[in-house]
Amino acid sequence: MEVVIASTNKGKISEIRKILSGLEIEILSLDDFSQIPTIIEDGCTFEENAVKKATAISKLTGKVTLADDSGLEVDCLNGAPGITSARFGGDGLNDAERNQKLLELLKEVSDGERKARFKCVLAIACPDGKINTVCGECQGLISLEVRGNQGFGYDPIFIPDGYSKTFGELGGEIKDKISHRARALFRAREVLLEIIQKVKQK
Ligand code: IMP
Repeated sequence: MEVVIASTNKGKISEIRKILSGLEIEILSLDDFSQIPTIIEDGCTFEENAVKKATAISKLTGKVTLADDSGLEVDCLNGAPGITSARFGGDGLNDAERNQKLLELLKEVSDGERKARFKCVLAIACPDGKINTVCGECQGLISLEVRGNQGFGYDPIFIPDGYSKTFGELGGEIKDKISHRARALFRAREVLLEIIQKVKQK
């Protein structure tokens, strides 16, 4: 069975590929299709955006599709950047500039007030219109400075609970066990296993 990952974010795709390895599926991404239009993420929640992306791409490709909508919520910023994590600070910024922007906003904020969490919602859409969603969270703190260069996005400024290093320093081996995406993907594996069984029985 082929499963399309409705993303072009290389960091996300590589994490999803690793955690879903071993399933009897062939993983494709949007890079394997030409002329797929950009799906506008105009929902008010991670779930709305994930469902919109998965449903639209499944209809366009005719294949089971998994879409990830994820982001970082910082308590002292009232949950920002949240669903706008990819665009925080302006469309033209790269990940490093976005991280600097966030650190700058938190420069007067003490250690104890830097609580944050990553959230991930995965939607799995089937061509017959059926849709499942699963989610995962990872609690932590925003670091005082950029540390480490592994991962992507906000990884170099996020220290998961129970660790003193950022995801940027810890790297994939640990991130893929405890991250928001890993937690959601462990649940998504179960949903995909059921879909694989049904396809086999047909
Ligand atoms: P979207 O889900 O494509 O709208 O964007 C999610 C954005 O949230 C990414 O571009 C990153 O900035 C951030 N993000 C989501 N997951 C992670 C992660 O695992 N590490 C670091 N940043 C992340």
